[in-house]
Amino acid sequence: QKSMDLSKGKVKINIGQKVLGEDLLIFSGPCSVENLDTMRDIATKLKALGVDVLRGGAFKPRTSPYDFQGLKDEGLEILKTIKKEFGFVISTEILDVRDLDKVDDFVDLIQIGSRNMYNYVLLEEAGKLGRPVVLKRGFSATVAEWVSAAEYILNTGNEKVILCERGIRTFETTTRNTLDLNSVAYLKESCRLPVLVDPSHGTGVRSLVKPMALAGIMAGADGLMIESHSAPDESISDAQQTISMEVLEEIMKTSKELWRY
Ligand code: PEP
Ligand code: MN
Repeated sequence: QKSMDLSKGKVKINIGQKVLGEDLLIFSGPCSVENLDTMRDIATKLKALGVDVLRGGAFKPRTSPYDFQGLKDEGLEILKTIKKEFGFVISTEILDVRDLDKVDDFVDLIQIGSRNMYNYVLLEEAGKLGRPVVLKRGFSATVAEWVSAAEYILNTGNEKVILCERGIRTFETTTRNTLDLNSVAYLKESCRLPVLVDPSHGTGVRSLVKPMALAGIMAGADGLMIESHSAPDESISDAQQTISMEVLEEIMKTSKELWRY
């Protein structure tokens, strides 16, 4: 089967003042963009902690159509305001090719969610914007399928693809997903693309986020994507896996100590 040789070199991506692939990058923020006041409060705290990229979903791919689907266009406006006020680098998920033009002028990183890893039209159209694309692993995708999905983006001429391990569905039901850190260690030795670990969706359990974030760093991740909130219990979505700013601070401190250990 034909595929790219991704084994040579290392893709490095400038993000804010840092370089993904060289420096430890922390992506954090709420599962969903909830309202401007909450987002300002969260952004103030994340800025003080030195978080590199603000994440937050305006479009939420929910399992049930009756659950909160995100603020959509209003959420994008909130992200735009936050970017202006705080100078944050923004990463947000796009579910639909029809929404790509709405984020072209201000979203720094386009996130492709787990459910859309196989949406090759979306991958190509997102890739064509030329900015970094965070490609989350499909929850039932093999590593080979995930890398093939990345090649759809790379084939548009956009080298800036960031893989994000967010856990897979296995026979195990104790946790929401099984965070596959084998994939991280494997990719770091065989693939030139940077890899993030998302221990929030990877576990679905607040108390497990810190140990698995640190395990991700030890597996060789280039950065972390973590759901955090100034009032985690009040999160509109994924409250059960959303951590406090205090725990995020602990994770960031210990991650720096363990970095490239
Ligand atoms: C998210 O990061 O907001 C998200 C929906 O994650 P995933 O696509 O990994 O489920
Ligand atoms: Mn979430």
